[in-house]
Amino acid sequence: MAEQTKKWRIVAVRRLSEAQLEALSEVAEVDYFEDVDESNHADFMTALSKAHGLIGGKLELNEAMLAEAPALQVVSTISVGYDHLPLGALNRRGILLCNTPDVLTETTADTAFALIMATQRRLVELANMVREGGWRAHIGAEHFGVDVHSKTLGIVGAGRIGAAIARRGALGFGMPILYTASSSKPALEQHLGAQRRELNDLLDEADIVCISVPYNDDTHHLIDAHALARMKPTAALINIARGKVVDEPALIEALRSGGIRAAGLDVFVEEPLPSNSPLTAMDNVVTTPHIGSATHETREAMAQLAVDNLLGALIGCEPINAVNVNVWRRSASDDKET
Ligand code: NAP
Repeated sequence: MAEQTKKWRIVAVRRLSEAQLEALSEVAEVDYFEDVDESNHADFMTALSKAHGLIGGKLELNEAMLAEAPALQVVSTISVGYDHLPLGALNRRGILLCNTPDVLTETTADTAFALIMATQRRLVELANMVREGGWRAHIGAEHFGVDVHSKTLGIVGAGRIGAAIARRGALGFGMPILYTASSSKPALEQHLGAQRRELNDLLDEADIVCISVPYNDDTHHLIDAHALARMKPTAALINIARGKVVDEPALIEALRSGGIRAAGLDVFVEEPLPSNSPLTAMDNVVTTPHIGSATHETREAMAQLAVDNLLGALIGCEPINAVNVNVWRRSASDDKET
């Protein structure tokens, strides 16, 4: 592409393939950072100060940094969650925020189900026992797990991922499905026989409680000590959403005291999970390092969608996935008027 068409500058951080970087470079000057840490933060800020677009996974951005980026028009995050980004400040500045829903839904639901299987059947604990030479006789009841099939699955947040988890449970494992969401889900009710419940009722009834809500002010500590106390002592909690949706110390206490039986956790208040967290040493807890969407195929698809979102937005198309699409619509109508 001719040099004069490169009217944009893009800062790209992590997770992009060579082909994707090339696609960006065809239309923009690209400053690529494999990672941003203390050692290159100043270089990152210099690049950001000239950028029209920012794309990447785990983007670190705050209001003060935005103030140093006067040309910024689009932030394209390689994630569906955007709780790590300052949406209010982006809105005030009229900066479009794009994310990558849908392409990661099935993979993240697979991860949730892996955690369900692992916690119910104690897979990690028992695999470790075999690895450590502890399998010396036929195993007895002290090593038995509990069934997955036919258990009641409670989905807290039956959106895209929650619904995909519910489908696996209902159609694959014959599980009755309960759910919460901000609005009712007639399709889930019709096709899976799912039933909507108030959160407290779901916690009372479910054998497995699966968290798939976005993190925001309303969902901060949605699962606190009170919520955990409502769960059956035989129940398991699965969290693939965000760590701060759950009051982690309260969860640790519930797991220690037998308030609930087990937990399968992909997300934590602090990530990476500190090695001295009690969660790493509990047999009834399965921890994974935030791998919800982490397959080759899905990460590639997410990065591609983020590239398409960014380029589309820069050239003025209505973006495929915009969190604050009103910002785009407003600026598009301003452009028409001027
Ligand atoms: P989504 O389609 O927006 O689903 C979120 C669901 O939560 C919706 O059904 C929504 O209700 C419901 N909800 C929102 N606030 C609620 C509240 N206070 N109480 C009960 N339900 C509430 O989002 P998604 O694509 O499924 O993703 C969900 C979250 O998963 C993301 O935000 C992200 O944080 C997390 N995630 C994690 C990983 C990982 O690697 N572990 C990967 C992908 C996503 P309505 O449908 O009525 O609006």
